[in-house]
Amino acid sequence: MSQEPILLTPGPSIVPLPVREALGRPIIHHRTKEFQAILKEAEAGLRVLFGTSQEVLILTSSGTGAMEASVINLLSAGDEAIVIRGGKFGERWGEICEAFGIKVINVDPVWGKPLDLAKFQQTLQQNPNVKAVFSTLCETSTGVRFDIAGIKKAITQAGSKALLAVDAISGLGSDPFSMDAFGVDAAVSGSQKGLMLPPGLAFIALSARAWEAVKASKTPKYYYDLNLAKKAWESTDTPFTPAVGLVIGLVESLRIILKDSAEKFAAHHGANAQYVRDAVKAMGLELYADPSCASNAVTMINVPAGVDGKELIKQIQSKHGVIVAGGQGKELVGKVIRIATMGAVGRTELDAGLKALESVLKEMGAAAQK
Ligand SMILES: *Cc1c(COP(=O)(O)O)cnc(C)c1O
Repeated sequence: MSQEPILLTPGPSIVPLPVREALGRPIIHHRTKEFQAILKEAEAGLRVLFGTSQEVLILTSSGTGAMEASVINLLSAGDEAIVIRGGKFGERWGEICEAFGIKVINVDPVWGKPLDLAKFQQTLQQNPNVKAVFSTLCETSTGVRFDIAGIKKAITQAGSKALLAVDAISGLGSDPFSMDAFGVDAAVSGSQKGLMLPPGLAFIALSARAWEAVKASKTPKYYYDLNLAKKAWESTDTPFTPAVGLVIGLVESLRIILKDSAEKFAAHHGANAQYVRDAVKAMGLELYADPSCASNAVTMINVPAGVDGKELIKQIQSKHGVIVAGGQGKELVGKVIRIATMGAVGRTELDAGLKALESVLKEMGAAAQK
């Protein structure tokens, strides 16, 4: 059997063996005591990982489904919201809001740079009717981690009542995150990034204040009506058929993540991301994101001038069996590569990826100076 490719992409990420074994177990019926016990263990683990005392609802969709669920459950057409657009995923918050008639006020940090909190606070003060602020924990398209606690502080200092919604789809598990300690009102994530599962599950948790906003929301909804999920959860149930196999796998992945502690798991990713940054700098390459705000989940590297970034990625895969990601959107495609350190990625995989990068760059004639 040929070797499996090494996935260093920021989703889907490597699924470790114990999780794969769990995913291969027989499917049980979801309205049983046996499955309820599994759901309970999964939800309890998610609460620890989210850092919340609120229930974490498990939805069947990719991560974007939970983003949409937050917009349509918290807001109504005509409401105003601030969207922090530090990259492609920040932009996605804005696109979802606009699809539902929310009036969007954009805050545009320079991609790769931290958010200017003073300027953000000013925007809030100038827009006192803003009902929600949408941010990203790890902006996967640039490798930047946003200062969620700092954003919350700015909202409070501006005297704003805006709810804070955070896309932690790629950051959860890798970047330090605590929904309750950071003062987050809606946190969303997905299965195929730091949670080391195949795609197909999304997670969402709301603060008490956010649940109040849900009552006021007039946006039409059905599948993503979180009242249904909350009601069902009171009897350890889901309103629709859950992705049984993925939930069984989730219990296993959470056991791995929480084995020591969520903090230790994130710190391990921090060390690995630093390892990648040091190694690529030693190759003479430039990092895209300011190291002061670099995420533990993914590192973006500028492709040296004169090198075709698409070809670089192609050869890393064809010659070395390592899959790295390119840039998203026309600004970045062909110009950057991204190496993920989320989930189950370890030094063995990173060394293979870094060696492949160095060797292909050399072959492509780029001066990989030491
Ligand atoms: C991957 C990702 C998404 C999109 O998630 P899907 O599961 O593809 O819907 C959204 N936000 C961030 C930050 C991501 O990394």
